[in-house]
Amino acid sequence: MADYVLAIDQGTTSSRAIIFDHSGRSVSTGQIEHDQIFPRAGWVEHNAEQIWNNVREVVGLALTRGNISHEDLAAVGITNQRETAVVWDKNTGKPVYNAIVWQDTRTQAIVDELGGDEGPDKYKSVVGLPLATYFSGPKIKWILDNVDGAREAAERGDLLFGNTDTWVLWNMTGGTEGGVHVTDVTNASRTMLMDLDTLSWREDIAADMGIPLSMLPEIRSSSEVYGRGRPRGMVPGVPIAGILGDQQAATFGQACFEVGTAKNTYGTGNFMLLNTGTEKVPSENGLLTTVCYKIGDADAVYALEGSIAVTGSLVQWLRDNLGLFSDAPDVEYYARKVENNGGAYFVPAFSGLFAPYWRPDARGALVGLTRYVDRNHIARAALEATAYQTREVMDAMNADSGVDLTELKVDGGMVANELLMQFQADQLGVDVVRPEVAETTALGAAYAAGIAVGFWQGESDVTENWVEGKRWTPSMPEDERERLYRQWKKAVTKTFDWVD
Ligand code: ADP
Repeated sequence: MADYVLAIDQGTTSSRAIIFDHSGRSVSTGQIEHDQIFPRAGWVEHNAEQIWNNVREVVGLALTRGNISHEDLAAVGITNQRETAVVWDKNTGKPVYNAIVWQDTRTQAIVDELGGDEGPDKYKSVVGLPLATYFSGPKIKWILDNVDGAREAAERGDLLFGNTDTWVLWNMTGGTEGGVHVTDVTNASRTMLMDLDTLSWREDIAADMGIPLSMLPEIRSSSEVYGRGRPRGMVPGVPIAGILGDQQAATFGQACFEVGTAKNTYGTGNFMLLNTGTEKVPSENGLLTTVCYKIGDADAVYALEGSIAVTGSLVQWLRDNLGLFSDAPDVEYYARKVENNGGAYFVPAFSGLFAPYWRPDARGALVGLTRYVDRNHIARAALEATAYQTREVMDAMNADSGVDLTELKVDGGMVANELLMQFQADQLGVDVVRPEVAETTALGAAYAAGIAVGFWQGESDVTENWVEGKRWTPSMPEDERERLYRQWKKAVTKTFDWVD
């Protein structure tokens, strides 16, 4: 009797394997970080082979630690860092280049050229996204344009593209010996190559980017059996039955199934998704229109998304590049030593600014400095930056949807930070709610896979299993909250027009 579902969360900083029981509780985990490769300013890469090795290892760790056999698994679900592009040779299984990570800005010239006279919104009505370095399509074009022999190999049909969901699935199901080359609608919706209405690849956009269709994975729902673990792998014969991009998986794991429900994930960056139901809602306020999930043959459900490039990674930057502290959670210890930010505002426009601005010309700024400002104020300013950026995205959501959010479900690594969560509630003016199981991303992928094989009956099981963990209620006086936000907005303007 299979009692468990395994989720693989192939994230930006690490790969995790988490085994869940029927009540949605995690019973065993494994996690390994991979290298962040920064070859030049603005470039961010991962080694896809290292990622695949880590995935195998974390699955082994989770099974061993839980004393669980692959025969106890009803299904495997995959969730992943989205947009990160891997291109590999299907005959050798070797990537032709490092994975180009979602934060990487090297494709700015490609993006500008593609937009031409029509500008960044050229494909927006079809794909829901503005032309930006963030998405996979321009990254594939960069690889084909810049890696020796890649374009010829792609045109011969020897190269395959995938986000890391596809890379992991292909390898798990056999690799060069019959690996399944598939992605789900949520990942496909982040490439700039998928039509949001038909949920199929757009030949014209692929042609504009010089990408042969033969490289692209087959687009399937988020919850169905795509294949089985290969015979001598970690999970032989187990159905791999769910794929959701990480943010969509968190939305699913947070049980945001009603139109108008939203979640915000605080990780490397921040991502707020609002369920808009089976209607896609175009944004007039700098948000993305994206697929939220599609369960088997049911209609696709769409979302509005506010993506913020840098939140938790600013904390990493203070730790690694400035050496202000040695562990990310210590940022709270320093921030708590002071009553306020001392007038300092830190706008972390390291990859330009994403939602709601989409300003590739912006670069980071620390403003409002006086002799008074010290390490504690800077720690506090870094945490506050996450909360202000989230407020900007929530304002855009409210404007686009015409309905004000009344509370926000949160998850991700940064929500352990109590100071940040209270300040967030204060800035938003609505309650912030963290569920008991904080691993919502992995949980969402597990649910998608479990539903496909009948381990769970459907979304109602997810809703039933969702339990509130902690709630923060706004307490800051209105004038203080608005004064801080006004100053933040002013600080943001200082980052514009930095890159020519
Ligand atoms: P991802 O899934 O994007 O890899 P996680 O959800 O694991 O990210 O969150 C990790 C991020 O959260 C890191 O950027 C780290 O700096 C930040 N972080 C972790 N713990 C804390 C904390 N207590 N306070 C503030 N930031 C934190």
